Amino acid sequence: MLNIVIFGAPGSGKGTQSERLIREFGLDHISTGDVLRKEIKEGSALGKTASEYIDKGQLLPDELIAEVLAKVLDEKEGSNGVIFDGFPRTIPQAIALKKILNKRATDVTVLINLHVAEEELIKRLLERGRISGRSDDNLDTIKSRLDVYHKQTLPLADYYIEEGKHVLIAGEGTVDEIFDRIKKALAELNN
Ligand code: AMP
Repeated sequence: MLNIVIFGAPGSGKGTQSERLIREFGLDHISTGDVLRKEIKEGSALGKTASEYIDKGQLLPDELIAEVLAKVLDEKEGSNGVIFDGFPRTIPQAIALKKILNKRATDVTVLINLHVAEEELIKRLLERGRISGRSDDNLDTIKSRLDVYHKQTLPLADYYIEEGKHVLIAGEGTVDEIFDRIKKALAELNN
């Protein structure tokens, strides 16, 4: 299985590049943010809990989100591989993911870290908020999400560097240019 963690700050293009990877490699996609937004729309108990965190730009508790992830992953049985988008976001989540995958006789193949300058991130997120109306794409929430990213999520890069699974990609330029960089990096992994 080709299991890719697509990693980067909010607005770094994880969703956009995931779409390209799905088409190119026939992978499944799990975006924990999308799963939670669907739960919110449906008005479920999980959705109600999730919206309290999402609207403040904070992360849901690790154990809760790991449970959600394991459940969604079981729906993808028989897959060629999965793109994990927005999960893991903390070191305990990375450890949980390893356990969840090992239990299913697989593991993370690679983490793709999309690097984008902070000013560009804020510009992209404000633009997305204008178009999509996502409740957390407003300046106050964007600032807390970026703060959470730096404090809780960025340390994960070191975890995957130690595992020898970290690939850094310049996340600015056209969608095609960035995707070409990702494809090249993945091809090099196989050599
Ligand atoms: P995203 O669409 O990935 O930017 O996620 C939107 C929001 O959903 C985040 O700001 C968090 O509040 C919540 N969320 C998504 N994935 C996770 C995760 N792995 N751990 C904790 N909270 C998450």
